[in-house]
Amino acid sequence: MFDDLKGKTVVVTGSSKGLGAAMARRFGAEGMNVVTNYRSDEEGARETVRAIEEAGGAAAAIRSDVSKAECVEALYDAAMFSFGGIDIWVNNAGIEEGAPSDQKSIEAWQRVLDVNLTGVFAGCRCAINHFLEHDMPGTIINLSSVHEVIPWPHFADYAASKAGVGMLTKTLALEYADRGIRVNAIAPGAMNTPINAQKLADPEQRAATERLIPMGYVGAPEDVAAAAAWLASDQARYVTGTTLFVDGGMTLYPGFQFGEG
Ligand code: NAD
Repeated sequence: MFDDLKGKTVVVTGSSKGLGAAMARRFGAEGMNVVTNYRSDEEGARETVRAIEEAGGAAAAIRSDVSKAECVEALYDAAMFSFGGIDIWVNNAGIEEGAPSDQKSIEAWQRVLDVNLTGVFAGCRCAINHFLEHDMPGTIINLSSVHEVIPWPHFADYAASKAGVGMLTKTLALEYADRGIRVNAIAPGAMNTPINAQKLADPEQRAATERLIPMGYVGAPEDVAAAAAWLASDQARYVTGTTLFVDGGMTLYPGFQFGEG
């Protein structure tokens, strides 16, 4: 647990399920005020809020589509209305749509980029404006992916968006470092969340995924939540502009694990 997080306010985009919900719950357990966000899964968001409140925390569920800048502004306004300020902003919402690149429509490409990259920029901009306006330090965490560095056939839009998140994170970190604003990314590997549910339910596909993970097993959402809590805390006060890989070693060229090559 990180004592300095107690009483601070965090916004977590896309926190009706998966990694966002796990991070929201962890932040709640740290004694933070948590603004959960959803696009359509109201019940999931309410469940996240319920879990935080039952554990003694404070939370609000706000509907907003982060692919639209004006909706991200509205999410910020709602956070201000609920808790009077923000200290930490987590750009977690993300989507993926697989298709061979020669058959991928521009509309499909744009849908992914709008959520995964433009939505992240819109969230960063809101948070940075708040920190600058109030002359206060602040922290931003962007959810990237191992596909920030690993190419992924059929998911060119997703991989491009996550590589973009990596450079966006570094650039904003450099741009605002002297104002006490830290900007970092977390790059999960294969985690047990709804985005992977279909793949992981199939024993063959699960085994194929596990072969890509040197530690040999799929990660839990709580592993990402623990990394987010640390990055948000003062324990990471000298950490900015970095991507923290939470991937069981997936980015370590697993093909070389047992001396091959
Ligand atoms: P998920 O599909 O389980 O949850 C995604 C969340 O984002 C949901 O709450 C969904 O409602 C929300 N969302 C989607 N589009 C939105 C929009 N336009 N506006 C607001 N909310 C929206 O996904 P997850 O596995 O929890 O992934 C969370 C993040 O982590 C994503 O950015 C994803 O790319 C990244 N990631 C996940 C994994 C993994 O293995 N699960 C690996 C690497 C990176």
